[in-house]
Amino acid sequence: MSFHTTTRITDNLYRIAEPIGIIAPQFGVTTVNMYLVVGNACAALIDSGMGIGDIRAEIRKITALPVSVLNSHYHWDHSGANALFEESAIHESEVDLLAQEPEMSAYRRAMEQPDVRAILPPDFDPAAYRIPRKPPTRILRDGDVMALGGRALQVIHTPGHSPGHVAYFDEASGALFTADTAYCGPMYACFAGSDPAAFAHSARRLSALRGVKMLCPGHNDIVSNAGFLAELADAMDAALSGRAQSEPPNEMLKRKEFRFGEFSVWFPM
Ligand SMILES: [Zn+2]
Ligand SMILES: [Zn+2]
Repeated sequence: MSFHTTTRITDNLYRIAEPIGIIAPQFGVTTVNMYLVVGNACAALIDSGMGIGDIRAEIRKITALPVSVLNSHYHWDHSGANALFEESAIHESEVDLLAQEPEMSAYRRAMEQPDVRAILPPDFDPAAYRIPRKPPTRILRDGDVMALGGRALQVIHTPGHSPGHVAYFDEASGALFTADTAYCGPMYACFAGSDPAAFAHSARRLSALRGVKMLCPGHNDIVSNAGFLAELADAMDAALSGRAQSEPPNEMLKRKEFRFGEFSVWFPM
């Protein structure tokens, strides 16, 4: 079994998934997703995953064009293989955050468990696992357009989960790459640098985009429910205004969860 699961979504759009749910079950998600968007001139890899196994070999099976990484945000599970690529881009407000090497000792320990070891590539050494950092070669701002030749990705600043989180919109195919701002599962507006009100605003802004045919999220499955973003924005507003009731708060984590059917949102206490 391969560590990466690559699926063709539409012409020249591929999802490459990694099983983060086995390595870090505490986050309540199954996969972390990267997307390869192939143009005529070059390809974009939206996020680089956890940096485990040979992501470049997966890409070579699909395209020989030059590939640059477009990060949705700086978190380690989305930027883990950045250093393997010559070109990478991140929003201007996360350049400094991306420069800091994350503390991975808890994950190294988790990887020594036999059930976790079993899903890692055979030549992977858990004891040496780290997230090497490399400065981005391009700094993104809201409204930037990344041209790939024959198709383009629009940069939409969506702060809330993290300060410089961005979504990417491929208007031609209607694919909206939402990363950690919208997926089916627990979403986090409670991390250091998170901002629940900004998260709600970002969800509302994405829900107003015209021509969205599917959400390609940073975790779990593709979302084809056209109303998902509006439901999420409504849910965030209900949680912010006190109209929604949270689960009993987790005193130790200083967080509380609001559940809404197929997703939930975590707020600071
Ligand atoms: Zn994240
Ligand atoms: Zn994530």
